[in-house]
Amino acid sequence: MSSSTQAPYAEPMTTHTDGAAPTTNADFIQLEDKVAAHNYAPLPVVVAQAEGVWVTDVEGNRYLDALAGYSALNFGHRHPGLVEAAKAQLDRSTLTSRAFHNDQLGPFCEALAKLVGKDMILPMNTGAEAVETALKLARKWGYQVKGVAEGRAHIIVMDGNFHGRTTTIISFSDDPDARDDYGPYTPGFESVPYGDLAAIENAITDDTVAVLVEPIQGEQGVQIPKEGFLPGLRELCTEKNVLMIADEIQSGLGRTGTTLACEYEGVEADIYTLGKALGGGIVPVSAVAADADVMNVITPGTHGSTFGGNPLAAAVGLAVVNMLATGEHQAHAAELETVFRDGLEALVGQGAVAVRVRGLWAGIDIDPELMSGKEACKGLAKRGVLAKDTHGSTIRLAPPLVITREELTQVVDALGEVLAEARNKA
Ligand SMILES: *Cc1c(COP(=O)(O)O)cnc(C)c1O
Repeated sequence: MSSSTQAPYAEPMTTHTDGAAPTTNADFIQLEDKVAAHNYAPLPVVVAQAEGVWVTDVEGNRYLDALAGYSALNFGHRHPGLVEAAKAQLDRSTLTSRAFHNDQLGPFCEALAKLVGKDMILPMNTGAEAVETALKLARKWGYQVKGVAEGRAHIIVMDGNFHGRTTTIISFSDDPDARDDYGPYTPGFESVPYGDLAAIENAITDDTVAVLVEPIQGEQGVQIPKEGFLPGLRELCTEKNVLMIADEIQSGLGRTGTTLACEYEGVEADIYTLGKALGGGIVPVSAVAADADVMNVITPGTHGSTFGGNPLAAAVGLAVVNMLATGEHQAHAAELETVFRDGLEALVGQGAVAVRVRGLWAGIDIDPELMSGKEACKGLAKRGVLAKDTHGSTIRLAPPLVITREELTQVVDALGEVLAEARNKA
């Protein structure tokens, strides 16, 4: 694969004439703007083709994808082994519904349960559904096992959380964009400062059934809690008979250099939510993993999904798990972490004010006086690198785990150039 990143990126100039088939970036953007809801504000790049860490737009410009679908593309675009698994399954069966069994679900659940060290898997499709499932599971466990009085189950969440977009999940978000004007909100949740063990301990009551936590807050700009927080939370949850739910939808499946981000501190949660990379960048696949004593409160008819556990999803999910089972991608991410950190830390004081790195995942706070995160991402796109800003002046880099050392250096160098250019202008 060529490692050229010379993408002649330019702000769209031409406009789409009504009736003519769209061909340029500007044409497709104008069309989308007219007929697709405006729930995103994407960079003006229209991807037509993708392979590995590289994407090509409709005008033939190539970009290194350093966002990787918010970690849904951990193995890169169209990973050959995953595409092969999907194609093979397309020729066998694709959807059965859970009214019948299929020959892919059992092997997938067995392999995934083993990978994350749990007894059982409940398959869903999107991340938000996995989180909803975990919340329902925890409440039901609270009533049936812990003995919480009906209607009183209490769940503790963290300030700055991101767990998806359903009405219940946004009810406990503190991001006004995600939450405002979507009420009335689901009760039963209490938010405390991220990483604050004392606040969690204070918030726990006899009715508390779970603490829901991201081991690293991705959407918040790759916020890594203080060392000792996750082990401390594990201890607290055990002592108080409260379930620890780790949302590993973005942090899990190799991103941090370990299979799960919790592993970094040797912590085992009671419930894991998984998604994004579990679908191999091909189909939406999510899952909840738990031991039998928790999972078995779910009985026939009490929870479900038409598409969850479908044979195509399970076949792709199994191929993903088999790849992770070798440990090769985790080891690669762990190995490149040093290159990534050294490169990014050198930018602190050069336009960056702080960087946080774990595995192949980085949050970079840019000096807000210098430029916004969005401006930095536009500058990166001009240099052939795609990334995403989060919250004002922070950008997040999460390249596919199949990135080479040389390509990773290109990403860091491109950011260095963007900052240098902004400094020269300032
Ligand atoms: C992306 C994400 C979700 C939601 O996943 P969707 O597939 O977009 O519903 C939930 N939790 C975390 C931590 C995420 O990063």
